[in-house]
Amino acid sequence: MYKGTIFFAIVIFALLFMCRFLTSLFSKKPNRMKNIVLFGPPGAGKGTQAEVLKNKYQLVHISTGDVFRYNIKNATQLGTLAKSFMDKGHLVPDEVTINMLEAEVEKNPDANGFIFDGFPRTATQAEALAELMKKKKTQINAMVALEVDDEILVGRLLERGKVSGRADDANEAVIRERIAEYYRKTDILKKYYQSQDKYYGVDGVGSIEDITARLSDVIDKL
Ligand code: ADP
Repeated sequence: MYKGTIFFAIVIFALLFMCRFLTSLFSKKPNRMKNIVLFGPPGAGKGTQAEVLKNKYQLVHISTGDVFRYNIKNATQLGTLAKSFMDKGHLVPDEVTINMLEAEVEKNPDANGFIFDGFPRTATQAEALAELMKKKKTQINAMVALEVDDEILVGRLLERGKVSGRADDANEAVIRERIAEYYRKTDILKKYYQSQDKYYGVDGVGSIEDITARLSDVIDKL
């Protein structure tokens, strides 16, 4: 009788343990997402690397600059508004950018994770991104930053301007203003992610393949 009770208790404990294990396994599913903020000043090579990394890691790439340019090309209301800021090398207001970014994320409910390219660019955007990730029961795993010297950036952007047709790449004053805007509003995000132990700096000078390998070293360990 006594032995029977002990056996019964053990079976109940085993079942409870299994239930807990299974629920934790399933509830962890969203946390297996890899969400990366690809960071760096204009011309650092974020777009180029994001293209390679999204295929390598099966992630959805969201470039706020690309979404704005798509809207400008299609002459939407958002595009007209964004253009007035972009042409001067200034940032588009936070509220507009955050709403647009959230809409892009919501378009991909089954994503394995995201590469955010060009977002966040301000402290308010970083807070909004953290909230959005929390709502989706996930988080930003890392900010991976491409580090490139300013004069190299200006040279690269002027070169890109010869072929890209981008108005903001055609004029050296606008390029310098974008870099200045980066130091004024965006560079502080390094501290924001550093304080959460999520900042990884990567040398952004070298061949595309070398830089991909440096970024992959970081991403593989996340
Ligand atoms: P870059 O090649 O200079 O890094 P992007 O292609 O990412 O630039 O973006 C081009 C322009 O679009 C920026 O200079 C800015 O005006 C606007 N933009 C892009 N992302 C954001 C953002 N997160 N917040 C505000 N403005 C943005």
